[in-house]
Amino acid sequence: MQFHPTALTKPGRFLISEAVRGEGAHLIDNDGRRFTFDYHPAGELAPRDVVSRAIFRHLQRTCADPATAHVWLDMRPIPAEKIRHRFPNIIKVCQHWGVDVLSQPIPVAPAAHYWMGGIVTDLMNRTNIPGLYAVGETASTGVHGANRLASNSLLECIVFGAQMAHLQIQNVSRPSDLPGLPMREFCADVTEWQLQQEHLKVLRDKIPRLVWQSAGICREQSSLEAAITTIESWQQDYTSLPVSQFLLSLRPTEPARLDIPDVERQLRLWAETRNLLDIAFLILKSAAFRTESRGGHYRLDYPQLEPDWQVHTLVQQNNWWKSPVVL
Ligand SMILES: Cc1cc2nc3c(=O)[nH]c(=O)nc-3n(C[C@H](O)[C@H](O)[C@H](O)COP(=O)(O)OP(=O)(O)OC[C@H]3O[C@@H](n4cnc5c(N)ncnc54)[C@H](O)[C@@H]3O)c2cc1C
Repeated sequence: MQFHPTALTKPGRFLISEAVRGEGAHLIDNDGRRFTFDYHPAGELAPRDVVSRAIFRHLQRTCADPATAHVWLDMRPIPAEKIRHRFPNIIKVCQHWGVDVLSQPIPVAPAAHYWMGGIVTDLMNRTNIPGLYAVGETASTGVHGANRLASNSLLECIVFGAQMAHLQIQNVSRPSDLPGLPMREFCADVTEWQLQQEHLKVLRDKIPRLVWQSAGICREQSSLEAAITTIESWQQDYTSLPVSQFLLSLRPTEPARLDIPDVERQLRLWAETRNLLDIAFLILKSAAFRTESRGGHYRLDYPQLEPDWQVHTLVQQNNWWKSPVVL
């Protein structure tokens, strides 16, 4: 995962371009102090991952709830005329949130920006599941090294997207309809359904928080292991919900009806929570597996580069291993 150092801490997490620091903006804390020099001699102009880490660690040290805290990006050292000319969109978005960048600092914190891993594909976007292709940020094509170069997403989307035009469609067998199966129904009384729904909502909100705290910009074995145990227990809670028992027992193409209010939104919540639990588990396990720091990853307990880790982490089912090729 690559982290961006300066996302506006408002819904939507608009990214404040790193170019503003290049033009002279300062990162300051609540006391107005330029704290990044405590972490790197280049201060605000240190590399992206170093600045993200400096903000993260400063918030951890100085705030009661670092997950929701922020520092300030102060554009006032840049001449107003230059701000108007170079950054009109930043002015506009910040204005929308009540921040006048010409006279006020912007509340910012690091945010997860780009998933550099993903589903392993070959150069024709094929995965190891016949008929399943992956393109874009979801794929792991091998174009990123330990970190991502700016605009490599264009390469992933455009070059690999264009490859799809040359696709030789494979003959893939699909699950055939199971004829004559009766419609299965899921019913729950109002109070019981509300409890399940509430449970799903709480899980959905807790997952990103846990992963941010334990597998975010700085990680270490003890908190990763604790988070893996927590996710495993949440997976069990999730699976034991009656709605999960019902949906997970369905066979492909089996007709089903859910007698619950606002069914589409609820199914989406259910499916997203399930996916997030899986993804959280994979990220945490992979982070615990990689005992070094490289690119986007920083292990507090393994700060050094290790030549043996000049590889990708691969996962299939419950097996984790290093890619055979030195990348
Ligand atoms: C704020 C921000 C700034 C960025 N800035 C840069 C930059 O400056 N330079 C750069 O190189 N990269 C940048 N990136 C990264 C880049 O934008 C993304 O990597 C790229 O857009 C990913 O494209 P994609 O097509 O793989 O995925 P997406 O653009 O996420 O497209 C996935 C699509 O699938 C849809 N979808 C999801 N689930 C389902 C479903 N179940 N059924 C049907 N549809 C579904 C989604 O609605 C979405 O339209 C930035 C990203 C962010 C968030």
